Amino acid sequence: SDQSLIRNFSIIAHIDHGKSTLADRILEMTHTVDARGMRDQVLDSMELERERGITIKAQAVRVAYTAKDGITYQLHLIDTPGHVDFTYEVSRSLAACEGALLVVDASQGVEAQTLANTYLAVEAGLEIIPCLNKLDLPGAEPERVAGEVADLLGEDPDAIKRISGKTGMGVEEVLEELVLRVPPPSGDPDGAPRAVIFDSEFDQYRGVVAYIRMVDGTLKKGDAIRAMAAQTEADIDEIGFFTPKMTATDKLTAGEVGYVITGLKDVTLLRVGDTLTTKHHGATEALPGYKEVQPMVFCGLFPIDGDDYPDLRDALEKLTLNDAALDWQPETSDALGFGFRVGFLGLLHMDIVRERLEREYNLELIGTMPSVGFEVTLTNGEELEVHNPSDFPDPQRVAEVREPFVRAQMLMPKEYVGTVMELCQEKRGEHAGMHYLSADRVNLEYDLPLSEIVMDFFDQLKSRTRGYASLDYEITGMRASNLVRLDVLLGGDAVDALSMLVHKDKAYAFGRTLAEKLQKKIPRQQYDVPIQAAIGSNVVARETVKAFRKDVTAKCYGGDISRKRKLLERQKEGKKRMKQVGRVEVPQEAFLAVLELG
Ligand code: GDP
Ligand code: MG
Repeated sequence: SDQSLIRNFSIIAHIDHGKSTLADRILEMTHTVDARGMRDQVLDSMELERERGITIKAQAVRVAYTAKDGITYQLHLIDTPGHVDFTYEVSRSLAACEGALLVVDASQGVEAQTLANTYLAVEAGLEIIPCLNKLDLPGAEPERVAGEVADLLGEDPDAIKRISGKTGMGVEEVLEELVLRVPPPSGDPDGAPRAVIFDSEFDQYRGVVAYIRMVDGTLKKGDAIRAMAAQTEADIDEIGFFTPKMTATDKLTAGEVGYVITGLKDVTLLRVGDTLTTKHHGATEALPGYKEVQPMVFCGLFPIDGDDYPDLRDALEKLTLNDAALDWQPETSDALGFGFRVGFLGLLHMDIVRERLEREYNLELIGTMPSVGFEVTLTNGEELEVHNPSDFPDPQRVAEVREPFVRAQMLMPKEYVGTVMELCQEKRGEHAGMHYLSADRVNLEYDLPLSEIVMDFFDQLKSRTRGYASLDYEITGMRASNLVRLDVLLGGDAVDALSMLVHKDKAYAFGRTLAEKLQKKIPRQQYDVPIQAAIGSNVVARETVKAFRKDVTAKCYGGDISRKRKLLERQKEGKKRMKQVGRVEVPQEAFLAVLELG
């Protein structure tokens, strides 16, 4: 197709500001999806995405839009996830575009991911078209929010589009502005073919589907191709674009977005960020790739039933095919047996992977508390990476421990600045800056240990600001910290899966609260179970779970049958997620008690 009529754009926004809904309207208005095929957030195809109302995987759809000038443009719309864990998906999508629709909820205003995504778009050199969304809501404050957006982008506040993705109001004007302002792709249509792989997916029947953006030249069905970094060679079985379903075509040319299928069965052969060219007369210089994503949060996953171990391995292998960010290694725990140490981008990513393992693969798992990765220098000069607190070496041998730090941006109404600063101080934060977005809204910057964020920072931030603060962060590097290992003993035996690394100044208080929490989480057993928290050989806290009374229903007054049944059912329910640790039955929630420490 005519390159001058192509417009490639992403929709970017803070989570819940209405990206997917706006994408729905665009697909509907351009008759890309007919009324029968239309449902809310049509691009969120993963079951979990639909249920949680979030976008996890980026999507790319081709849309034909006939503008008021009578010309039909070929738009490629790339919907992106908004959550901080998936920032890498956003930046990859942006690299395949020339423009971005920046959606801001007019009843909320500029939030942390609005800023973060805007910066990514500016960095990628995109034309940014801002719009204020949800104008149909009575609580919308377009004047105030226009001011915030105008300050951010240096635009005229009155020129910012007012829209509603829900009713469709103003959406056409946004598309008009888009075809006017977003430049067409600038690649060389006659050059040696180069396409960047911006996503890839494993399809059970068709093998690897690589999402590509053609930069130069043409790729055709049947072409012998080469992935330049991985040195993979294959033939194109099918080439096409998304409508949003896969639609085969004979070729893709410079500027177009689509997919190729090669019959390859291993996603690592067509890696995200790699450049595709032809085997013969191909390009010699690859396109710039993407930063490799690093897992930042780790936890142990163990099958409740040890016989499920091979199934868990299979399931992890399958998930990894579609999720390059997922990282895992076998782990053996004295307490929990054979399992895996799994690395994630963040807590949401962890949650999602875990839920998929349980749901799509029917596994019952115990997850240990999440931890960050630490670097340790031993007194003999040796360097270690520690992804599991129970692997932390004997303190006598440790010269230095380093932990990942982030630069956090928190946006909030100004009356909450004091309480958020207090929270950041408690979490070992260092003040890094503060400025006003408008008379009322403040952007507060802090350097914080990632481990504190992993703990419960976000929940605390939300609850202390009644939901009004938003958070975004990026990893800035490793810093030396005074960390010690806190161990937990149940019935006198150390439980490796409950160990954690904490800052020395907080270790005693932590130990005490942890022991109290565990005492409440561990059900009564046949005998008393002492719980101890210890740093080395130094016991810092002790609690006891008293032996249980014989009849659980005894405490029900009268003989109310339904009450009794409920209680028994609840007891059965609780049993499901128990793991025998030595002589003690430990429920799943006990392993996560630490997340509620505060
Ligand atoms: P995303 O996370 O940015 O993709 O946001 P979604 O498109 O999933 O929308 C989040 C929520 O806001 C959903 O409940 C939508 O129905 C709602 N929403 C989106 N756009 C509008 C709008 O223009 N008006 C109203 N009233 N609600 C909207
Ligand atoms: Mg969405």
